[in-house]
Amino acid sequence: MKLSAFRKKSPWILHYNAGGCNGCDIEILACLAPKYDIERFGMINTGNPKQSDILLVTGPVTKRSRERLVEIYSQMPEPKVVVCCGVCACSGGVFRDMYNCEGGVDQFIPVDVYVCGCGARPEQIIDGVVEALSILEKKTKAMEETVQLKNQPVNEGTQLNRRNTAAAIIQPQ
Ligand code: SF4
Repeated sequence: MKLSAFRKKSPWILHYNAGGCNGCDIEILACLAPKYDIERFGMINTGNPKQSDILLVTGPVTKRSRERLVEIYSQMPEPKVVVCCGVCACSGGVFRDMYNCEGGVDQFIPVDVYVCGCGARPEQIIDGVVEALSILEKKTKAMEETVQLKNQPVNEGTQLNRRNTAAAIIQPQ
């Protein structure tokens, strides 16, 4: 069985507050509690970027958190998915244009899913994370196909397939 089948069923999530007011973080805690029970999707909240599949970011990026955010993202193995939780993470929100605010998360790392709201409601967060799961599955499949193609002997047909796969991977969603 392929890795993509397992990964979709047991993603590990890393939560990082880049400088928000903690409102969105409390809603994330609500998702983990029995009422919303996000773990029913097989997710585990982890603290180690090297073992994480999904990065869930709250709050705007501040001057102090900017480098840490990029460092965390670069330590996560591929394939990875980034979810912005709350309007601050999406665009800076109420903190936008403040002296210490650098803007939304997508100014510094690629973002796959935007979850709006101030704070984002648990239902919205769960929706966003479920969307992240399907993106994670697609990225994992694309990587598996690339590895398969690399292991094939090179001939004209293989080169054509490689070009097609590469084009599919870099095409925007
Ligand atoms: S979106 Fe609202 S609740 Fe979330 S961190 Fe920003 S100000 Fe706080």
